[in-house]
Amino acid sequence: MRKPVIAGNWKLFKTKNEALALIEELAPLVSGVSNVEIVVAPVFTVLPTLPAALAGTGISLAAQDVFWEEEGAFTGEVSPRMLLDAGASHVIIGHSERRQYFGETEETVNKKVKAALKGALVPIMCIGETLEAREAGDTFKVLERQLRGGLEGLTATQFAPVIIAYEPVWAIGTGKVASDDQAQEAHAFIRSVIAEMFGKPAAEKVRILYGGSVKPENAKGLMSRPDIDGALVGGASLKGSSFASIVRYGE
Ligand code: 13P
Repeated sequence: MRKPVIAGNWKLFKTKNEALALIEELAPLVSGVSNVEIVVAPVFTVLPTLPAALAGTGISLAAQDVFWEEEGAFTGEVSPRMLLDAGASHVIIGHSERRQYFGETEETVNKKVKAALKGALVPIMCIGETLEAREAGDTFKVLERQLRGGLEGLTATQFAPVIIAYEPVWAIGTGKVASDDQAQEAHAFIRSVIAEMFGKPAAEKVRILYGGSVKPENAKGLMSRPDIDGALVGGASLKGSSFASIVRYGE
């Protein structure tokens, strides 16, 4: 049985005080939830503020990006060791917004995934096709390229902690959620590629999250599909009540 993961990607929202207020609202609403892993991903500057507020809540902390070097002359970057030092246990890598606006490539995603694993952080590696690629019938081709590129050079043992997030670019922040069937089809394909790369046991174990306009209203339907093991939530994670409803999708 794969334990579902519901992760909130706060993107470029929430100052320290706003983040603390959100956790204060969220924590009691998800207290007692033990069958779902809950993760929140604030901006870098907020990370060190949250561990004290999250203590005892069962909520884990993620960064939204990481650099692959440990230290050095790399102005503006943050290393895995520094994220751990700030209290993070997870890190989102290769989000489509980073691919689209900040020049993230398969190669940089691969370096970041390897660095995160080496630094004992759990990578949440994002993949997903654009609308153009979907309409051209290239969805699987894009997903396979991103998976093979991002995970290149890992052994099955090294791969084991990795979480994959399938986020079709056309469904992010648009209100256009992939249908349960579309998402399931992509997730099953992703699992089949993981099986080819790392073997069947690894494919059975890997958690594959769906992201793109996940809301309390559509979470349950998506999560009921066999290959959908959680959600990476943007907009709806910015309010405690809506994020908690998604975490409690099964109730
Ligand atoms: P929305 O839930 O706002 O569509 O964002 C999805 C996303 O990009 C999560 O990483």
